[in-house]
Amino acid sequence: MKIILGNSHPQSLFAQKIEALSGQKLFACYQCGKCSSGCPMAESMDLLPNRVIREAQLNNGPVLMSCRAVWFCSSCFACSVRCPKGIDIARIMEAVRTLQMMDGKPITEQPSCEDTGTLPQIALVSHFRKFNV
Ligand code: SF4
Ligand code: SF4
Repeated sequence: MKIILGNSHPQSLFAQKIEALSGQKLFACYQCGKCSSGCPMAESMDLLPNRVIREAQLNNGPVLMSCRAVWFCSSCFACSVRCPKGIDIARIMEAVRTLQMMDGKPITEQPSCEDTGTLPQIALVSHFRKFNV
């Protein structure tokens, strides 16, 4: 399959939405993986943070719209601090969550209390941020 990158192509609409919602430059990411290697929630994610960025660069909307990793993200900002390109990945995760909700994804898709009980303590506090919508 031929993949065309760039903001001028119609296929880049999904990437544009994420950039607009997050205020971050998706295409600055060069896939070093530092965000994922420092993420305390990585073991629970179906897509690692750097993979979320990559799928967004590729405008792979179907994958991101069904991705549960963004709900397991605890918004701890560890990834954002570690990124050598200054990308605030936590804001990108938030943008994907927002797009999923705009698409009508039920809020019950979020991790349950039972799920969070097995996750790092930081998740227990920061997951509450998601209920401010
Ligand atoms: S740390 Fe930054 S540059 Fe590296 S993969 Fe993550 S988002 Fe991309
Ligand atoms: S903000 Fe989310 S994606 Fe980033 S390190 Fe924390 S839990 Fe992982």
